[in-house]
Amino acid sequence: MPPYKKLNLIFSILLAGLIALDLSFSISNWWYVVLLALYLILHVAGSFILSAGFFLSVKSRGNRNEIKIALTFDDGPIPGNTDKVLDILKNYGVKATFFCIGWRIKESPELLKRIIREGHLVGNHTYYHKSIFGLLPAKSVSRELQDTDRQIEEIFGKKPRFFRPPYGVTNPMIANAVAAGNYTTIGWSIRSFDTIIKNPARLFKRVTTPITAGDIVLFHDYSDSMIKILPDFIQYVQQKGLQVIPLNELLNEEPYR
Ligand SMILES: [Zn+2]
Repeated sequence: MPPYKKLNLIFSILLAGLIALDLSFSISNWWYVVLLALYLILHVAGSFILSAGFFLSVKSRGNRNEIKIALTFDDGPIPGNTDKVLDILKNYGVKATFFCIGWRIKESPELLKRIIREGHLVGNHTYYHKSIFGLLPAKSVSRELQDTDRQIEEIFGKKPRFFRPPYGVTNPMIANAVAAGNYTTIGWSIRSFDTIIKNPARLFKRVTTPITAGDIVLFHDYSDSMIKILPDFIQYVQQKGLQVIPLNELLNEEPYR
């Protein structure tokens, strides 16, 4: 049972207890407000903390005992940026995972072909990456996933199994769509904030300070500061003895179907 269902059960019991108390001793209505507020706070926190796996099972890191990490790049393919990332990865002989957006694949199919040709993995990051993704009904979420799968399948002949929700947001509708499509939801253990941190030195410090075995690092194709630090970052982790491997190897899971 996912944590949110357990929480619903606990709160149902607490509410029943509160009603029973109210009928016997006529308690203040504020107790109901407190209970509701607590319930809402926990649900909102659960929606935004992907690694908590509140609504669905999420893989956010590999084995901490193996000196391996995986790099992931979201929101591409983007001409002028993804090519630079690919050049750097090629230069250092590193394989990564790209969580791609459906409409961007349609606009730049050659870039997706290059990602695959050069031995990297492709995951599903929805078709439109809408800011209201967390508010969509399960049917629309499924369509977002299927349309992206179709774009990838047309080029590659295979459908991805790895899915990363935009903004790391999850809810019961997304959980239903993920279960229906039999996807593996992928999170991260190191969030670079490379879309916010423009200073390369600060970004380098942010991603290298905590890095350790088993980590999944989240980057974005369109971050210029990320592209600036990527060569130094790869050299740093390699010097630290960490092997950079694709996500399927880190998690020991099939990436396609
Ligand atoms: Zn994204």
